[in-house]
Amino acid sequence: MKHLIRKEFLEKGYVFATRAAETALASGHTRPARLASNENPYPPSPKAVKAAADVLPHTNRYPDETNKEFIDALKKRHGDYRFVASVGMDGIIDTVIRTLVADGDRVAVATPTYSYYGLAVQAQGGVTVSVPRKADFSVDPATFCRDAAGTKLAFLCTPNNPTGTTETPETIAEICENYEGVLFLDCAYIEFDGTDYRPLMRRYWNLIIGRTMSKAYSLAGLRVGYAFVPEWYGPVYQRAATPFTLNMVSQAAAAAALRDTVHVKKIVSVVQEWRQRFIDECPYPVVPGGANFVMVDVAPQKADDVVTELAKKGVIVRSCASFPGLPDHYIRVSIGEPWENEAFIAAITDIYQP
Ligand SMILES: *Cc1c(COP(=O)(O)O)cnc(C)c1O
Repeated sequence: MKHLIRKEFLEKGYVFATRAAETALASGHTRPARLASNENPYPPSPKAVKAAADVLPHTNRYPDETNKEFIDALKKRHGDYRFVASVGMDGIIDTVIRTLVADGDRVAVATPTYSYYGLAVQAQGGVTVSVPRKADFSVDPATFCRDAAGTKLAFLCTPNNPTGTTETPETIAEICENYEGVLFLDCAYIEFDGTDYRPLMRRYWNLIIGRTMSKAYSLAGLRVGYAFVPEWYGPVYQRAATPFTLNMVSQAAAAAALRDTVHVKKIVSVVQEWRQRFIDECPYPVVPGGANFVMVDVAPQKADDVVTELAKKGVIVRSCASFPGLPDHYIRVSIGEPWENEAFIAAITDIYQP
């Protein structure tokens, strides 16, 4: 039936970090340190868990199609912006692309970065234009606008996955002013950094800020993402979205998690402390960043070799060799539970070769 499949889906797809896990298991580590996926190692707020359990008996009905409870919680948290919600930020990215990109349309992506933008653009028949970051992985607004000229949509991730680097609001403002398409700012990790781009929503017609409940809020398994969108764009998005986006359980949990500000603050400060310890104690240079992971330069070693070595010691991290535009000597290490972080520092110190 191969002839029936669109060429975009014949091969490849999203790369999961499974090989390192197999190596760890083969080396006898039944419970390795899992530091490859940027998950939050801590469970969600108990209030979110209770809210989810409380709605389970009512799931014979369809959920509220306006996601009112979650949107109200967002407005209480962030102010009176226009929001949309979906099944993870990946769901938002998909829907945004569906509204703006038709066959052959060009979409700019500031690379190296998260791979899903490119896959989603391709799925819609669009063409990705890579806009390379500078040597320090920051984005130069003038270069960005020049390289992205003529595209309808652009993706910029800050703090960036996998480099961790963060752009200033001034850089983003300059891009919004000079870019003629819609800028999608992916802020999946922004809670761990604290830079505030929200006020830019009041000034620019062409800015969308994507956020997720998967990382700082520990709800990756429930799949909830949201975005700040300009007024004009809200109805456009709704027309392209599936009729029911958030399920009842996810929505109840996400709203309760947002309201529990004490829980998320505690998690963020623990992550920030460990990020500093990684920077101080890792023998290889760590790229300064603002996420719940760090990118480590393991040169002159190769990333894939270091990942295998660490896996043999029971520590699973992500090789960045598969990120287009990045040389093959970087690994990405998520900040996990204290025992996992200790295991990483011990293992990387052990295998260090200057
Ligand atoms: C994790 C991640 C997402 C996706 O988040 P979900 O809400 O879980 O779909 C989006 N962008 C980046 C850069 C991420 O790392």
